[in-house]
Amino acid sequence: MEKESICSHCGKQKKLIGHGLCCACYHRERRKRLGVGGEVRKEGFTVSVDFTPMAFLLEELKKRAGAELRDVGPQILWELNKNVGAGPC
Ligand SMILES: [Zn+2]
Repeated sequence: MEKESICSHCGKQKKLIGHGLCCACYHRERRKRLGVGGEVRKEGFTVSVDFTPMAFLLEELKKRAGAELRDVGPQILWELNKNVGAGPC
């Protein structure tokens, strides 16, 4: 499952997480996209996420949410809070 490939952005051999990009490049690109144009409201901002490409991720989140007696939504926020801006993963 976790095979490494060449990142199409930085050219390093890493575990790719999406669009042929390694984790660091993927998040950098995503931040760039989100930061360009468009207004981002900080409150009441709702995002629909299609977990189909990473169904295992949703299963893991559900498992963790169950262990913490949370709903999946707050669990996703919690995981994001732990990981966003936390440097290289
Ligand atoms: Zn990369």
